[in-house]
Order: sequence, then structure tokens, then C-alpha cells
Amino acid sequence: MTADADTIFAVASGAGRAAIAVVRVSGDGAGTVLARLCGRVPPARRASLRSLRDAGGEILDRAVVLWCPAPSSYTGEDSAELFLHGGPAVVAGVCETLVALGGRPAEPGEFTRRAFFNGRMDLLEAEAVADLVEAESSAQRRQALRQLDGALGALYRGWAERLTRLCAQQEALIDFPDEALPDGQEAAMLAEVDTVLAEIEGHLDDDRRGERLREGLVIAIAGAPNAGKSTLINALVGRDVAIVAPTAGTTRDVLEARAVFGGVPVTLLDTAGVRASDDPIESEGVRRARARAAAADLVVLVQDGTDDIAPAVPGGRRLVVASKADLGADGRSADVAVSALTGLGMAQLRERLGAIAQDLAGAAGPPALTRPRHRAALLGAAGALRRAREASQAELRGEDFRTALLEFGRITGRIGAEQVLDSVFGQFCIGK
Ligand code: GDP
Repeated sequence: MTADADTIFAVASGAGRAAIAVVRVSGDGAGTVLARLCGRVPPARRASLRSLRDAGGEILDRAVVLWCPAPSSYTGEDSAELFLHGGPAVVAGVCETLVALGGRPAEPGEFTRRAFFNGRMDLLEAEAVADLVEAESSAQRRQALRQLDGALGALYRGWAERLTRLCAQQEALIDFPDEALPDGQEAAMLAEVDTVLAEIEGHLDDDRRGERLREGLVIAIAGAPNAGKSTLINALVGRDVAIVAPTAGTTRDVLEARAVFGGVPVTLLDTAGVRASDDPIESEGVRRARARAAAADLVVLVQDGTDDIAPAVPGGRRLVVASKADLGADGRSADVAVSALTGLGMAQLRERLGAIAQDLAGAAGPPALTRPRHRAALLGAAGALRRAREASQAELRGEDFRTALLEFGRITGRIGAEQVLDSVFGQFCIGK
């Protein structure tokens, strides 16, 4: 970068009135801008209290200023952070002055984009920054931090280094006559291809754990009309999301509520009572319910504990909950019996949901694949390695190794099509 490193700035803290608002400035002109704003540039990396003035010399704020010269800054450029009093007039005054001094408002993700271009982080780490900013639950935070500290990058770099060695060995096989090479070199190479391939396939075959955790799980609450689904959702999220009524068929559409179970964020879908109906609006609700339930990570099948007939609901993993336990039904055929009205069994249900969510999202364990973008590249690399194993000619095998390496370069951003970078950084908020 640095060729077009004009000086950018952004309010990095949240919108609205707050005690403190943080404004970030970065770029070649950051030092000049800072000197004009607060008299002189404060000592590097030391919090300094300064009066900030507009172009006409009027004081805008008394604020803490942090000066981080290149290259040891977040972006790798000359940077400053201003910790302003958070009032809108102070923030607006400082931003107007920054524009008057030649700064321009940053685009979403522009600070991190610069950090990436200046070699301060690879693409995986940049994505982890975005995930950390978005993290809603403890498990998401841990996953983002694991990616940010480079654990995932180290795994991918390890495979890329082994592929580079394979490439070199392959070249040697082509360039030197057979007799000059130690016996069994080709067999050893193919064995290494098998090992790397098996490791990548193991990483891919993770039931989408990391992606599920990043995106949050979807749990569909399904069951016959009046089974007690709406009441259960309301009890689980602690507020009235779903309409509860004694008339069958009240919930006509799919309602959503957000919750966290076992540190994993979850969207709960209250599906319309699953039953055949002549009413076209209710039939549409039933159709949507079946479709959402089929795509959900987990179906919680609510069964009226007092009548014990389970309707057929499509979908993968499921947990059967017998409702209305306070009415004396034993719910023997269910996994958990609850009363959403009295709270009986609700703690056990939360515990079960937490355990299933952690299992599905792989909240513990080795670094998991977190994005479809990485999955696509790894599938490409695995495909190339499979071809390499089958290749009849040594020259073709070398080409397959290079293709696999290219895919790893895509993940870390060493080989970056501009569209990939745009899509990665476009998802950031302004000020990151
Ligand atoms: P849905 O159609 O499956 O969403 O069912 P609702 O949540 O609307 O509940 C249907 C009826 O069952 C309502 O009258 C609720 O008050 C009642 N109900 C739901 N849960 C319980 C419960 O745990 N105990 C008792 N006694 N009644 C319940």
C-alpha cells in the first residue's frame, strides 16, 4: 500500500452519546494533522492530555491523545487515536476539523485493509478481527480469538510449507536422472501426499462446526398445534415473542427469537402448528414451517405431554420435549419433560440445549474451519492432491501441487484476487 495512503479517520467507538468517543486517524499525513490539531505531536505510544483546536484556533476538547508512528501501529502506518469526550458536538467538531486538515472519512474495514496490505496481519487474522467485533457469545469470542492469534493460520501454513517441499522434491525428480536420487524417494513423496490429504480431509469433515458457531445455530421448534411451542419459546427467551392462544392454529408464520445456549448463539424458530388445513394462510405457514425445520441444525419437537401423539416433522437432529408436565403427564417417550408455565424441567432443557449446541458448534477442540471461503479453497487443494496421487506423469503432478499451494495462498491472502479482498473487508464496520 502506502502509495495511496491518504490520511483517513473514523469514529471507532459506537454511535450515540457516550462518556468517551474514540477517533482513529491513519496515513502518511497523520503526524501533520495531529500537530495542527493539538499543537505538537505527543511522545510516541504515551497517553498525553492535549487541547484540540479547530482550524481557527477555537478549543474543541481537552482529550487524551495517543501517537503511534509507523511501523508499530495497527495499520502499520503513522496513526493516532483521540479519546474525546463523547458528546455529538465534540465528535462533529473534531471530524470537521480533520476534514479541513486534509483527512477523509474511512471506508468500512479500511484500517484493517491497510493493516493487511502493510503485512501487519494475514487475511485469516483480518477476518478474525471482524468476527471478534461481531461476536455475541463467549464461544464465538473464543473462536475469533483463536483465529486472531494465528492458530488457524499456523495450521494452513503448515500444510502449505509441506506442499512447497513436495513441489521442490517433484522438481528434483524431473530435473535429475533417476539414478542420482535416493531409492524410494517417489514412494516417500506419495506417502506424504496421502498424509497431507488425510489431514485436510479430516479438517474438512467437521460437520461445519466452526461455520455454525460463527453464523449461530438455527433451532426450529416444531410440533402439533396447541402443543405449547409458543409458550415454550417465550419461557426460553424470557419475553413474549410468540403469540400464545388456546385456539389451535394461532401462530401462522415463522417467528424468530435470539438466545444463547452453552455459549453458542441460537436463532429459535417458532413454526406454525404442523397440521393439514383448508385455510390457505395457515397452509402457507405449514409449508414454511416444514421448510425451515428441514434446514435447521436442530428440531425441538414439542409434544403435548397429555396426548402423546408425535406428528412427523422433517429435519436432522432432534430433541423431543413433552410439554405441560404440570398437568401430570409423565412424558416417558420424550427426552425432557417440561412445564413452560411453572418452570418445571426448564433448567434440564436449557442444559440439554447447551450441550447439543456446543457439540454442533464444536465450541471446544482444535481450530475449526470458520468460513465457506476457506472451505472452498481447501476442497480445491484436496482435489488437486487427489489428482497428484493419480497423475501418470511427474510433470502433471508438479502442476497439481502448485494448484494446491495456490489455494492456500488464497486463504491467507498471499494470492488475493481483488474481489476476495473487497468481499472480506466490505463486511467490516467503519473504524476497523
Ligand atoms: P402452540 O400452538 O404449540 O404454540 O401452543 P401454545 O404455546 O399457544 O399453547 C397452547 C395452549 O397450551 C395455551 O392455552 C397454553 O397456555 C397452554 N400451555 C402451554 N404450555 C403449557 C404448560 O406448560 N402447562 C399448561 N398447563 N398449559 C400450557
